[in-house]
Amino acid sequence: MPDQSLIDAERAKPVPPQGHFIDGAWGPASDGGTRPVISPIDGRPFATIAEGTAEDVDCAVAAARAAFEDGRWSGLAPAARKRVLHRFADLVERNALELAVLGVRDNGTEIGMAIRAEPGSCAGTLRFYAEAADKIGGEIAPSSPDILALVHREPVGVVGAIVPWNFPLMIAAWKIAPALAAGNTVVLKPSETASLTVLRLAELGAEAGLPPGVLNVVSGSGSVVGEAMGLHMDIDVLAFTGSGATGRRLLDYAARSNMKRCYLELGGKSPNVVFADAPDLEEAARVTAHGIFRNSGQVCIAGSRLIVERSIHADFTRRVAEIAAAMRVGDPLDADTQIGAVHSEAQLSANLRFVETARAEGGEVLTGGDRILAETGGYYMAPAVVDNVAPTAALFRNEVFGPVLSVTPFDTVDQAIALANGTDFGLAGAVWT
Ligand code: NAD
Repeated sequence: MPDQSLIDAERAKPVPPQGHFIDGAWGPASDGGTRPVISPIDGRPFATIAEGTAEDVDCAVAAARAAFEDGRWSGLAPAARKRVLHRFADLVERNALELAVLGVRDNGTEIGMAIRAEPGSCAGTLRFYAEAADKIGGEIAPSSPDILALVHREPVGVVGAIVPWNFPLMIAAWKIAPALAAGNTVVLKPSETASLTVLRLAELGAEAGLPPGVLNVVSGSGSVVGEAMGLHMDIDVLAFTGSGATGRRLLDYAARSNMKRCYLELGGKSPNVVFADAPDLEEAARVTAHGIFRNSGQVCIAGSRLIVERSIHADFTRRVAEIAAAMRVGDPLDADTQIGAVHSEAQLSANLRFVETARAEGGEVLTGGDRILAETGGYYMAPAVVDNVAPTAALFRNEVFGPVLSVTPFDTVDQAIALANGTDFGLAGAVWT
């Protein structure tokens, strides 16, 4: 963790108005539209981004198409692309503190997690795919002697990438690193509520040697920029991370346009199943609490459902609630904070509504569930543990994406498995035994 004074110095830096990054240059939205950037730390605006239009998407796709077709990137030797991607990772690492603090001001993640998960993981992903660039080749398929069947891997063309607000850099890297390593060009759309680090990433990519048009970033809303990308006839592939509801829309856009391939990474409601014979129940309780509450529960794989054997249910749940109540919620740029800000006012309201509904459906709130630190102007919530949540309850079945843990006891292994699988979500799961 860097020194607090270095974090504070980064926090004090003004952020100039941001445009789109298209064809290697910055520019405004086609109609001059902008959107304020509100910090969840204090609820105040501290920057502006361009409010993109469908015309801006057309411009970015045209730049990406031209860059793809003339081979300025796809035509390079794989080892040359690898060198650029390694330089890109070097620059992300060199600017890690700036990127992490800027991202926290934008999305509210506690700084300790942000440094590891954002520039740290972004650079790691860029390096992984940099190495893949000159190692993934084709195949010769087994066939009869008079036939030669080759599997030749080549870039697809223009990749559209749409990412959410919780880990913008980490997730942007999941999209752009494999696409670029293979020689594709990219149009990347960050979340309208967390764009700043992704815009800076585009600049670092150019500095690393990505030719103009190879990585373009268009900021703006899902309903305008995202939809225009989904329906675009000249985007060949869509790589998306976000909610299931938006994922469904993208499949629909693809069906209504050029049937582009869609790769979707969606939400979760991950079960954390604890048996009475788990060797270290204290550690299980600590990990259960941290697994749901860090980053205010805004993690796709957060262990949001505790499914616990009835013989230890009361003691174990009480212990988790005690750990939750002792976690330090506050300014995410304070190095000692364990739970930072909820990302937005809308997300905070949705979280509070989930707790209210859970109560109405018979759940017992053991701790938390309220807005706190309202005097800061920021969006903070005390982590909530809700006991005896029925498998039919809204809290059991839906992703909150906030600091709310639902607890449901079980008696038999079969019941535990049925409960763990009892939602429409996939993603992660854990078993303690
Ligand atoms: P979201 O689906 O609201 O938005 C994600 C992105 O899609 C944003 O850039 C948004 O502008 C865009 N978008 C919204 N509506 C659109 C539309 N109609 N057409 C095209 N694009 C549109 O999700 P969010 O609130 O930003 O992020 C939280 C969700 O992301 C949660 O469900 C979380 O679990 C999920 N997530 C999943 C993973 C994973 O790896 N599986 C990782 C992180 C987050």
